[in-house]
Amino acid sequence: MSREYKAVPVAPGIAIARVLQRRLAGEYIPLLHLEDAEVPGEITRFQKAREQAVSSLEGLMETLAAKMQGEEVGILKANLALLQDPGFGKDVEEEIQKNKINSEVAVQRIVSKYEEVFNSMDNPTLRQRAEDVRDMGNQILASLLERTQESLIAPGEDYILAVDEFLPSQLGHIDTARVKGILMGEGGKYSHGSILARSLGIPCLVGLKGNLGKIDPGTLAILDGDGGKVLVDPGEDEIEEYRVKLEEIREAQTRVFEVRLTSSVTTDGIKIKLEANAESLQEFEGLESGVYDGIGLFRTEFAFMERLQFPSEEEQFQLYKDVLERAQGKRVTFRTLDVGGDKPLPYLRTPPEHNPVLGWRGIRLTLRWPDLFFTQMRALVRASAFGKTSILLPMVTNLQEVETAKGILQVILKDLNEQGIPHGENLGFGVMIEIPSLAMMMDHLKKMVDFVSIGTNDLAQYLFAVDRDNPRVSDLYDPFHPGFLRFLADIAKSGRKWQLPTTICGEISSESSLVPVLIGLGFRRLSMSPVFLPRIKLVIRSLDSGSCQRLARRILNLKTAEEVRATLKKSMEGRSRARRKPG
Ligand code: PEP
Ligand code: MG
Repeated sequence: MSREYKAVPVAPGIAIARVLQRRLAGEYIPLLHLEDAEVPGEITRFQKAREQAVSSLEGLMETLAAKMQGEEVGILKANLALLQDPGFGKDVEEEIQKNKINSEVAVQRIVSKYEEVFNSMDNPTLRQRAEDVRDMGNQILASLLERTQESLIAPGEDYILAVDEFLPSQLGHIDTARVKGILMGEGGKYSHGSILARSLGIPCLVGLKGNLGKIDPGTLAILDGDGGKVLVDPGEDEIEEYRVKLEEIREAQTRVFEVRLTSSVTTDGIKIKLEANAESLQEFEGLESGVYDGIGLFRTEFAFMERLQFPSEEEQFQLYKDVLERAQGKRVTFRTLDVGGDKPLPYLRTPPEHNPVLGWRGIRLTLRWPDLFFTQMRALVRASAFGKTSILLPMVTNLQEVETAKGILQVILKDLNEQGIPHGENLGFGVMIEIPSLAMMMDHLKKMVDFVSIGTNDLAQYLFAVDRDNPRVSDLYDPFHPGFLRFLADIAKSGRKWQLPTTICGEISSESSLVPVLIGLGFRRLSMSPVFLPRIKLVIRSLDSGSCQRLARRILNLKTAEEVRATLKKSMEGRSRARRKPG
């Protein structure tokens, strides 16, 4: 009988293979106190180690260039940018100088300071930057300590890799063709290891913590990346059961690949607009044009996060123009800066808040910093001369905020027209529905904006009154709650009534099992992380809108999230049985 450990599934699929354990033992780093005369030499030692880490990362990127896709390139580039960041170098050098300590300890201290800033952020994607920083620190420490990177390649056969944390720098040390699955002690759905695993198509579980140590190296295991568990020492019947599932997954993957460039229409001809969420230019670099209908959400804050000071209008203009040109005629929806409160910019000092998630963030902050907002809007409007552009406001609470932002837009347009500076003719203007109060104002919004976009990640947080990062209550945050789905149903209804184009750009638009319900409720535009687009397209192409409506009606009458999940599971199984039926 096998032993079963539950874990968080972050990359789907199944792996049946032996486990290769690669876990780092705690490395001892001595603290040395230096004489005054030794300080300059120590700073040079740090600089050399940093240069070495930069060139080894560049080497890794070159080696992996052919294998990597947009998102992975973005992760390694982000690491490289951090390594080369003059601010980081200056901080470490000051730490050595001020405290007369060795480089290893100075690097560790500065890295943990940076990590703390990123870890305190609400947005999961921004929190991942803490990993980038940790990985960068490890690379410099490896050069300082002259540690050679351990090769993670096992002799011979395919294997499941078990690591405390899968970091981008380890990518060059594994043979991706032979790693059939990854088990991580740490990490979350949005950690870089998870993103890498997803984009490499390797099934992955995270959060195994202490249980990872209970799996002896070389033991046969089944990693279930859909069910969120690992079976150690499985019996023959379990292996057989999972071999059948594996075969089904392979067939589905072939179908996903085959449909990726086709149109996202239901069997009865309803077109569902499928758009991509992006944070950087690199993210959709490798995305084939036929896969997506546009960029439904470009989170501009990332360009601000990666820097040490506000980007100028000219720098922003160049970025937005590059993004529009890369989108090749498809519409790009740029969201204005969504920072503040618990998503701080290191160079934007705001007072501490007791309740940052309910505090000074998004449009609440940028409207109080008119220069900041004006500069970004002007850069966006100028860039609109180079492609179809929409501007989207985050964290809007009331109509006055929309009015004020619109006023600023009018001033900019007038000013550009007077100066003969070109801009696009067909500029879209919309708001995020993330705060429940605004969802009730669709009739008025109709007169003020061209579209709305539902940010279900934040909307659910505010509707459930749950801080999803607080482990004591985070299980109450559940988008399958029928109350939440009823709320979405109301928004869809108002959107139809007031003919206001309504997109969903939160995570739920990539939940395969919920997509039929969203379509049944009347949503026709979904925006999601690019990696999910082909799979959701396959789901859409198997649906007819009538059955989706019936399913949605049934779901809205259920009492609990568990009942919703069970009903959706049955419905998915029914569809896949129907697909397999000959004729
Ligand atoms: C959301 O809240 O659903 C959303 C898309 O915005 P973000 O995840 O960037 O907060
Ligand atoms: Mg949000």
